[in-house]
Amino acid sequence: MAMLFLAPGLKASSWIKHLRMQGPEVDLRVWPETGPREEIELVLCWKHPLGELRNYPNLKCIASLGFGVDHILRDPGLPPGVPVARLVDEGMTRAMSEYVIAAVLNHTRRFDLFRQDQSQRVWRPRRPLHAPEVRVGIMGLGTLGRDAAAKLRLLGFPVAGWSRTPKEVAGVSCLAGAERLDEFLSRTDILVCLLPLTPATQGILDRRVFSRLPADAYLINAARGDHLVEEDLLAALDSGHLAGACLDVFRTEPLPESHPFWNHPRIVVTPHSASHTYPAAVAPQIIENFRRVRAGQAPLNAIDIDKGY
Ligand code: NDP
Repeated sequence: MAMLFLAPGLKASSWIKHLRMQGPEVDLRVWPETGPREEIELVLCWKHPLGELRNYPNLKCIASLGFGVDHILRDPGLPPGVPVARLVDEGMTRAMSEYVIAAVLNHTRRFDLFRQDQSQRVWRPRRPLHAPEVRVGIMGLGTLGRDAAAKLRLLGFPVAGWSRTPKEVAGVSCLAGAERLDEFLSRTDILVCLLPLTPATQGILDRRVFSRLPADAYLINAARGDHLVEEDLLAALDSGHLAGACLDVFRTEPLPESHPFWNHPRIVVTPHSASHTYPAAVAPQIIENFRRVRAGQAPLNAIDIDKGY
């Protein structure tokens, strides 16, 4: 029985090397060289061809090669009843928090404005925004949101978090549910989206949400491009209501050359680089899951398919 690497956009060699080191006994195949498809028990997926998952009749687990699983759940051929697992990794979590902190400080310490001044050789001291007076609001208090919240607290920012169900995080004001979203937004000067992409969160960063933020608020989206209604962001920036945005993810990736975000003076674009997956770090949990499902156990980090994350 075999494991299939089904991630056409990723370089397979490094993955194969680390997976083989961790699980020398595993029969590991790389799509499209699947061999007999009924032998595949675990599929490792990243942005696979949609519909492909229906071709493996004996699957025991579908495993994401990232934290998110939206790329798997959108497959119309998703076989019912097969558990879906995601990666959870300390290094990736740390990297995401670094990204969020860098984006927050880039804004509060005015680096983006200094950069513009520099391009014109203008010496213009600017007062930074004072951390204790800048309220950060994090949408999503899961693995990533909690870590970023705790680290931003240490830097002196007042932090609130918003989640689906009530949470308790030391030093963080936690609000939950759609009915508390406006309250959360009205006390947020820097909005950070770290939500999973689900039908409930698709397009959540829209005109309505922006209008509930205080004037001069700043947006950081490091979750998924489909969370953001891009035209609504442009309108909120151009009207002067929002001060700026730092975006790592986009509806279309790579961001098309003609896209207005590229040249917008108040948008920082990064190419889906907030957090990378390192095969060496996560190969042990993938092999562990293969062994678990073969032994009839539930995989680690299985998501709730009905919830979508
Ligand atoms: P988790 O599943 O650990 O946490 C998700 C959080 O979002 C939970 O607190 C959950 O609330 C909350 N949530 C989900 N749906 C809603 C909703 N409808 N309303 C309010 N809150 C909601 O996810 P992670 O923290 O691990 O990751 C989040 C996302 O970040 C990933 O799904 C992925 O898309 C993205 N990501 C982006 C990367 C990049 O490089 N740009 C890298 C890694 C991840 P509750 O707990 O109450 O259910």
